[in-house]
Amino acid sequence: MQKHYDYIIIGAGASGLMLANALGNDPYFRGKTVLLIDKDAKKTNDRTWCFWEKNEGDFDTIITKSWSQIQFYGENYGAAQEIAPYKYKMLRGLDFYNSYLNSIRSYDNVTFLQALVTAVEDHKNYVEVTTQNTVFRGTKVFNSIFNYKLLHQQTKYPVLQQHFIGWFIKSDKPIFNAEKATFMDFSIPQKGNTRFMYVLPFSETEGLVEYTLFSADTLAEQEYENAIKKYIEETLRCTEYEIVEKEKGNIPMSCYDFSAKNGNSLLHIGIAGGWAKASTGYTFMSTYRKTKELVAFLKKNKPLSSFTHKDRYWYYDLLLLDILYEDNSKGRRIFESLFRGSSPQLIFKFLDEETNIREDLKIISSCPKSYFIKALFNRLL
Ligand SMILES: Cc1cc2nc3c(=O)[nH]c(=O)nc-3n(C[C@H](O)[C@H](O)[C@H](O)COP(=O)(O)OP(=O)(O)OC[C@H]3O[C@@H](n4cnc5c(N)ncnc54)[C@H](O)[C@@H]3O)c2cc1C
Repeated sequence: MQKHYDYIIIGAGASGLMLANALGNDPYFRGKTVLLIDKDAKKTNDRTWCFWEKNEGDFDTIITKSWSQIQFYGENYGAAQEIAPYKYKMLRGLDFYNSYLNSIRSYDNVTFLQALVTAVEDHKNYVEVTTQNTVFRGTKVFNSIFNYKLLHQQTKYPVLQQHFIGWFIKSDKPIFNAEKATFMDFSIPQKGNTRFMYVLPFSETEGLVEYTLFSADTLAEQEYENAIKKYIEETLRCTEYEIVEKEKGNIPMSCYDFSAKNGNSLLHIGIAGGWAKASTGYTFMSTYRKTKELVAFLKKNKPLSSFTHKDRYWYYDLLLLDILYEDNSKGRRIFESLFRGSSPQLIFKFLDEETNIREDLKIISSCPKSYFIKALFNRLL
């Protein structure tokens, strides 16, 4: 006998936890049963999330640090800028997992199960979710298991990755300005790619230094590590430090149609649903916004396949990815022109997909136009 739930959420990462919490917290869903499944207990600090947000927000009680200035460095331009009314905020993965799992445990209608999901079968009006020991049936199922293979099985859309290794370091002497987060430092050798350093200072002696690429292929681990070491020694001018923790990540950057695998009763969420911003890899806040949209959508009781839609921002992202895929060395020039020509506030608004057409044109015209015109023609043809 299969166990039936109204909603099954596969994966208790960012998207799964946000959705489970929203369904548990909203009185509208009190009569609905929700099963949240993850193979992990979510007890390790496996990532650090950063996002920008205007003023106060829902995560403020669990954020570790926020910055009101960001720095950008290119080849010929660099600046530290105030970002008010935005703040750049940092949240430790483990603090998020603990806080959300605690809330979820307090909801009578939500159950968390630690189990490996081995199959998900869409039967149109319901979905079967198989774990090692049990088969569950869900009227609606939300799946956040992401499979890179899907992206590589198609050629219509280029696939880049935001890939990085970061070191959390502690130095003997002051080396950081704790008030300024380095959003992108392109002053490092590009080696034919789009490569930059990302630096989050927690205090004058503690910070995260991350070597990041927007490119098609990952590197050997040693190459990221050598670059971080070189940056700490030559740019931060520090030789005496301790590596406290490391993190690594690999976020897909693609305009692939993630909704192709959705059905009336099955929706892919989080990175698996295409909720990562294709041109930057930022996912956390877009997941927060999409979760709100999804909860409102569920109240309308429509087929899940009609949830996703494409808009003009999808096309802008596609053009940037086409350019970087064709010639990966162009990233530094594009980001440098963008930060030189537009305020960080306008750039954040654009990346949040909240700009009007006039603002879009201002952003686009600050970038090297010939790259985008060529990419547009190639797509149209
Ligand atoms: C190190 C790192 C740093 C990042 N930093 C940022 C950042 O600063 N800002 C930002 O916006 N984005 C960031 N991202 C990108 C993105 O926000 C995260 O990857 C985010 O966790 C994606 O959420 P998700 O729900 O799609 O996937 P996940 O959070 O990865 O959740 C998927 C869940 O599914 C579970 N799972 C997988 N397979 C199975 C299975 N077979 N059975 C059961 N459970 C399964 C996993 O255990 C996991 O808990 C970062 C990513 C990484 C890896």
